[in-house]
Amino acid sequence: MSLSRKGFLKMLGLGALAAGSKAYGLPSKALEDARAAAKKLKITDVEIFLFDIPLTSPFRIAIGEMKAANDLLIRIRTDQGVVGLGEACPFPPITGETQATNAAAARSIRDMLIGKDPLAIDALLREIGPLVHSNPSAVAAFDMALHDILGKVAGLPLFRLLGGTKNTFETDITTSLDTLENMTAESKKYADMGYKTLKVKVGLDPDEDFARLSAIRAAIGHGVAIRIDANQGWTVPQAVYALRKMEPLAIQFCEQPVLASDTAGLKAVRSQSPIAIMADEALFGPADAIKLIRAEACDTFNIKVMKAGGLLNSIRIAHIADAANMRCMVGCMLESKLALTAAAHVVASQANIVYADLDGNSDHVTDPIIDGITVKAGVLTLPEKPGLGCDVDPAYVKKLQKI
Ligand SMILES: [Mg+2]
Repeated sequence: MSLSRKGFLKMLGLGALAAGSKAYGLPSKALEDARAAAKKLKITDVEIFLFDIPLTSPFRIAIGEMKAANDLLIRIRTDQGVVGLGEACPFPPITGETQATNAAAARSIRDMLIGKDPLAIDALLREIGPLVHSNPSAVAAFDMALHDILGKVAGLPLFRLLGGTKNTFETDITTSLDTLENMTAESKKYADMGYKTLKVKVGLDPDEDFARLSAIRAAIGHGVAIRIDANQGWTVPQAVYALRKMEPLAIQFCEQPVLASDTAGLKAVRSQSPIAIMADEALFGPADAIKLIRAEACDTFNIKVMKAGGLLNSIRIAHIADAANMRCMVGCMLESKLALTAAAHVVASQANIVYADLDGNSDHVTDPIIDGITVKAGVLTLPEKPGLGCDVDPAYVKKLQKI
């Protein structure tokens, strides 16, 4: 018995596809015209703004302190009115970039992009590569804006376009370094807000780190998970000592216990630690993922859109990890809700990204982003609008310095 294509699709329950585009409320001519227009789309303008957001209190980790998010906002315009938004959030102690180096990189990327097809994302990123070096956050801002345009042209939220189905997942919230009393009070506050997972910064004196974590565990009980992040603050012997001592505290995993450059040290810690090891500062792009997997240096990855240089590279890392049967987290720097929404689309698109740490704007004094993700008691929900699904308040943009 032969089966026509239409019959085959109907058999699979895809009657709407078989019936043609009318099922979606669009006459097929209009759909064809839209597809033809998308293929001719051109970038006509790129706007770059200095995007500074002060923090309500300094964010302290083992290797530095930040008092503000000194970001860039990128807006890519096209000849058909579709606009893409992106954000760079350089974190100097980790990525070595600053707002000034990102701005210089962004200017050269802008000049290259004018007149190009915004949907040719892979090709454009390959052109950006030789233009800038060591400015992954600047590249991430452009990659994000191009993906925003792609989603808007396709009429789909990015996570759905990228193959995801679930628009909601759990995120943790971070307690930064402070006194034992303050860290305990802050962690208790988050647990009382309904967060099911807390991330706690460590990486100072191992005994003092242990005392702080013990106090936090006692205050919040065992119904809330704790993951920790040493931000490269320990030596290998300190890390092994600390992690063995912390075993009774039921720690989910420890991020970057030792120096990012010390792959052998990371492996040594992993082989002696009762707590799983996550690479963060040691992992920027896909090549680092391959290096760490080959070295068997860690159990999991913390992917960040800013370190990876965008969504495409973040997804590449997740794919590499998946092939090695490794699960991942997506984390953040101190991004606004714009870049956090982009990171959330990455989480929702990949089955092996099972942890999220998307709280970068929790200490921002202002949120100028319209729509995007919502987070309630640690449950993050993505918007169902096309592209990233967020915008920036036009009145706020008018006050920003354009460069
Ligand atoms: Mg980290």
